Amino acid sequence: MAASQLHVALAGNPNCGKTTLFNLITGQNGYVGNWPGVTVEKKEAKLSRDKSVTVTDLPGIYSLSPYSPEERVSRDYLMSGEPDVVIQLLDATNLERNLYLALQVIETGLPVVVALNMADLVEKSGDKIDTAALSKKLGAPVVMVSALRNTGIDELIAAAKRAAATKGSVAEHTFDSAIEDVLGKIEAELPGSVTTNKRRYYAVKLFERDNEAARAINLTKAAAEKVEALIAQCEQDCDDDAESIITGERYAVIAHIMDECVKKAPATMSISEKIDRVVTNRILGLPLFVIIMWAVYSIATSADAFGTAGTDWVNDNLFGEGFELFGMALPSIPAAIEGFLTSVGASDLVSSLVLDGIVAGVGAVLGFIPQMFVLFVLLAFLEDCGYMARVAFVMDRVFRRFGLSGKSFIPMLVSTGCGVPGVLATKTIENEKDRRMTVMTTTFIPCGAKLPVIALIMGALVGEGEASWIAPLFYFLGVVAVIVSGIMLKKTRLFAGRPTPFVMELPSYHFPSLKSWWLHVWERVSAYIKKAFTIIFASTIVVWFLMNFGVYEGVFGFLPEITGGLEEFTEFSILAMIGRAIGWIFIPLGFDSWETTAMSISGLVAKENLVGIASTILAVGDDTGLSPELWVAFGGLFPTAGAIAAFGAFNLLCAPCFAAMGTIRAQMNSGRWTAIAIGYECAFAWVVGLIINQMYNLIALGQVGIWTFVAFAFIAAILFQLFRPMPKWAWDEDIAPVPAAA
Ligand code: GDP
Ligand code: MG
Repeated sequence: MAASQLHVALAGNPNCGKTTLFNLITGQNGYVGNWPGVTVEKKEAKLSRDKSVTVTDLPGIYSLSPYSPEERVSRDYLMSGEPDVVIQLLDATNLERNLYLALQVIETGLPVVVALNMADLVEKSGDKIDTAALSKKLGAPVVMVSALRNTGIDELIAAAKRAAATKGSVAEHTFDSAIEDVLGKIEAELPGSVTTNKRRYYAVKLFERDNEAARAINLTKAAAEKVEALIAQCEQDCDDDAESIITGERYAVIAHIMDECVKKAPATMSISEKIDRVVTNRILGLPLFVIIMWAVYSIATSADAFGTAGTDWVNDNLFGEGFELFGMALPSIPAAIEGFLTSVGASDLVSSLVLDGIVAGVGAVLGFIPQMFVLFVLLAFLEDCGYMARVAFVMDRVFRRFGLSGKSFIPMLVSTGCGVPGVLATKTIENEKDRRMTVMTTTFIPCGAKLPVIALIMGALVGEGEASWIAPLFYFLGVVAVIVSGIMLKKTRLFAGRPTPFVMELPSYHFPSLKSWWLHVWERVSAYIKKAFTIIFASTIVVWFLMNFGVYEGVFGFLPEITGGLEEFTEFSILAMIGRAIGWIFIPLGFDSWETTAMSISGLVAKENLVGIASTILAVGDDTGLSPELWVAFGGLFPTAGAIAAFGAFNLLCAPCFAAMGTIRAQMNSGRWTAIAIGYECAFAWVVGLIINQMYNLIALGQVGIWTFVAFAFIAAILFQLFRPMPKWAWDEDIAPVPAAA
C-alpha cells in the first residue's frame, strides 16, 4: 500500500448532490435520496481512476454546529486531521443558502475546493455565476460541475489534488469590524497548540459558545472566562445574542458575495416553480398526493397491469400448468421437482417437505416479484424526479398543525420501500422524543413486503378483477395510523414538546438518471429475492415441521403416516396447538383459527412470509403459488368479510418483521423503549382490527355484543385524545432537559 493515500472529504448541504458525485467518481452505488438525512453515516471509497485517492461522502448538513448527529459526524471528520482536502459541494441553483456552510468550511483552514453542482440547471435558468470572482471572494478555487450530467469532474479532481498540496485555505471574508475586533481578542486567548490555519475557525466557534469546540482545544478555565467576558460585552453592545450575531454576519457576507458574483436571469418562473405552484399548493397538494399514491398502488396490484400479469404468468406457468419455451413443452417447477423426487424414490416425508413446504412457501413469495418490480419502478421514479421531496414539504404543513414535524414524514416515505432504512432515517430528527415517536409509527406504512399480504387479503375480499381500489386503501390506512398515532402520542408526557424544525431544499424536477433509477429498483427487488431463499426458505421448513408433526391418539410422529392418511391431519399438529393457545386473543377481531394465528406469527419473521406460510398451510398436497384457490381457501378461514379486513389491518399495522424490529431496537438503544414501541404497534393494530370487525358486524350484519361496546369505547377514547386541545404543559415540556437514552 502506497503511503501517500490522499483523503478527499465530500461536504455539503443535504440534497446538493454529494452522493451522486461520490457514486460517479468512485463507481459505488450509494443511496441517492431526494431528501435530507439519507446519508447519515459517512461512506468511503477509492476513486475509480486513481486508487491512491480515498473519497469520503459525508452526511448533508447546513452548518458546522454540533446539534444533530449528521452535523457531528461531518464536523468530527473534518476536524480529525484525516482529510487532505475538502470538496465543498454547493447546489448552485440555491447558492445563497449553500454558501452558509461553505463559509464555515473554508474557515476551518483546511484546503478546500468549492464545487458548484447542478451546472446543467444553472445554465438552463440563464443565471450567470462569475466563478473567478467567487473564488477570490471565498479564498478557495471554484469549479462548475454537474454530477448528474458528468461535466467538470476531471477539472474538479485536478483542482482538489492541487489544493491538497497547499497549506490550506485562508478565509477571505471578514465580518463587521467591531465583531472582527472581538474575534481577534478571542484568537489571542486560544492555546498555542491551535495552528494558524485553524485559529479563526475556533475563535468563531468560541464566540458562538460552542462548548464542544472549547473542549476539543482544551481551553483553560481562565481563558474561557476571559472569552466569556468578551462575548458578553459584545452581546450587550450589539443587543443580540452571540449566535445570532454570527449568523447575521455570515448572511451579510453572503449577500455581498451574491451581489458581486451572480447575475440572475430576469425572473421568469422556471418549469419546476410552475409545477410546484400546483404540487405544493395549500389546497391541491394533499389531494394530489393521495391520487398519485392511489395510482401507484392500483397499477402495481391491479389485474390489468403488467405487475399482476407477470405474477399470474409466473404462477400459472412456472408454478401451475407448465409452460412452453422455444417450442418445448416444459413442466412447471413443482411438477419438475415432483418428477425428480419420484424418479429418485424419495420418501413421502421428503416429498412433502420439499413440495408442500419449501416449494409452496418460497414459490408463493417469488410469485410477487413482478408486482414488486412495478411498485418499486414507480416509487423510485417519484423519489428520483423530486416529487417525494415536495410531499415531505406538503406534509410538514399538515403535521405542524398537530405539533408534529415534517421531518417525521421522511422516514415514512423511505418505509414504503422497506421499514429498515425507514427506521434508520429517523436519525436525522434531533429531538429525541420526536425521534422515538417516529421510530414507533413509521413501520405502519406498508413496505414492499406487505404488498403480497395486501394482494392476498384483496383476493379473499373481492376475488379477481374489481379490486384495484383495495390496495391503496391499505396504504392510506398506514398513513392515517401514523398521523392518528402521532397526534395522540404528542399529547402524552412521553412525547410532548415543540416539533423539530424542518428545513429542506426542494431540488428542481428532473428526469431520473436511468442508472440510479434502476439501482433503486434492483436494490429492493434483489433484497426480496434474497429473503425468499434465506429467511422464508428456513421458516417454511420450520412451519412445515410444526404442521406435519404432532400427537395423534397419544403418539407423536409424522402425521400423514400416524393418522393413516387422515385428510385433516394438520388439526393434530404442533402448529395447531400453538395457534389454539394464542388464537383466543383474536376472537373479538373475528378470527381465532390456529391457521390465521400461525400466519400472523409467521408474518413477524417477514411480512411476505405470511403468504408463503398461508400457501404451505392451505395448499397441502395441492397446487402452489398465489392462485384463486389460495384466496378462496384463505377466505374460508374467516366467518365474514369484516374479519378478513380486520386480519389484514392487524397484520399490516402490528409489529413489523424481525429485521425492522432489530433496527428499532438499535435505534431506540433501550430495551424498555423497544418494548414500548412494539407493544404500542401491536395494541394499536389490535384495536383497529377490533373496530373494523365490530363495525362490520354491526353495520352489515346488525350484530351487537359486548365487543361492540368495547369497540365504541375505543373509538370514543381515540376521538377524545385526537380532538382535545394540546395540554398546556405540553409546549413547555421541551424546555426541561430531554433525558438521554437509557
Ligand atoms: P446528497 O443528499 O447531497 O447526497 O444528494 P444526492 O446525490 O442524493 O442528490 C440529490 C438530488 O439531486 C438527486 O435527485 C440527484 O439526481 C440530483 N442531482 C445531483 N446532481 C445533479 C446535477 O448535477 N444536476 C441535476 N439536474 N440534478 C442533480
Ligand atoms: Mg447523500
